[in-house]
Amino acid sequence: MPHYNFSAGPSSLPAVVADRVAVSFRDFRGTGIGIAEHSHRGAAFEGLLRETEGLVRRLADVPSDYAVMFMPGGGSLQFYGVPLNFLVPGRTADYCVTGHWSKKAYYDAVAIGQTHVACSSEDVRHVRIPAQVTTSANPVYLHYCTNNTIYGTQWQAPPTVPSDVPLVADISSDMFSRPPRVAEHAMVYACAQKNLGIAGVTLVIAKRDFIATGRRDLPAMLQYRTFDEQGSMPNTPPTFAIYVMYEMLTWIAEQGGVVGLQARAQQKSSLLYSFIDATPFYTGHAEAGSRSQMNVTFRCATPELDAKLLAEATAAGFVYLAGHRSAGGMRASIYNAMPLETVATLVQFLADFARKN
Ligand code: PMP
Repeated sequence: MPHYNFSAGPSSLPAVVADRVAVSFRDFRGTGIGIAEHSHRGAAFEGLLRETEGLVRRLADVPSDYAVMFMPGGGSLQFYGVPLNFLVPGRTADYCVTGHWSKKAYYDAVAIGQTHVACSSEDVRHVRIPAQVTTSANPVYLHYCTNNTIYGTQWQAPPTVPSDVPLVADISSDMFSRPPRVAEHAMVYACAQKNLGIAGVTLVIAKRDFIATGRRDLPAMLQYRTFDEQGSMPNTPPTFAIYVMYEMLTWIAEQGGVVGLQARAQQKSSLLYSFIDATPFYTGHAEAGSRSQMNVTFRCATPELDAKLLAEATAAGFVYLAGHRSAGGMRASIYNAMPLETVATLVQFLADFARKN
């Protein structure tokens, strides 16, 4: 039976990427040595790392005064790393709280220094991105999460703030599904296991001017400048995860780059949302103007029907469709790697279930 993987992360890879990775695991580029077995200081891996950086710079349109870094610790270490480096005594960091992960980032900053909530959607169960963002007097940065993986909402554009406020964005769950608008941010970061490959590496892109304002009285491994100055290799980097990112980026380029992926993301999400809107049996979680093109959240009329649907879906090969425990219902994660045909197959299943029930 085929499996249709709707996991929110780690999530499915394009089949061609998985095939290329399988070959390189045994023999990377005819060296006779598997990619995970090459020294990170050898020419094979060093060359690959620079090629990977080049692909990021080209595909994400990264300005030359920005560093591209490959870091360990997942998206979550960035929640802590950002305030640790930049939230210095006497300053305030602003946070947009629009979901589970942005709230975690906010709490890590609260543990470090003075914070201000610039907007929150908690009072409306995160069904929409707030219309209004109110910054503090002179924030050291404003942090927001472009796509709320759990609630299925997405900022349609970066928050409107005074031009001197550095924007820091967690773009983990929508990277490359649209242009990341790097030049409008001081820093963006994305863990790899949703749109960029597998768990173990986080892509961090930051303006060098901004990196330079970070504290120097921290252990070297916790400072961004260390990763910039040492080409992401102050120690052994997650070589295999970086290699898989390289294959994902190569595949993205083959799909027509970000423009190609953006068109696919629009097609896939419209197919699902227009079906949900046209089928009273289902209710979407996010309000229309705040909907995510990556994580589509919806429910049936009762939790019992949700449970029945999930059981039948699993039996039919649709896996990881359950909503996060804090949101309930269903969530279809349709990241860059998800083919349109798989979304169409899901819509057919949902239509059949609605008709029978
Ligand atoms: N940010 C977002 C938007 C996420 O969806 C997630 C999680 N899956 C994280 C951060 C946390 O990432 P990690 O598990 O790599 O720490």
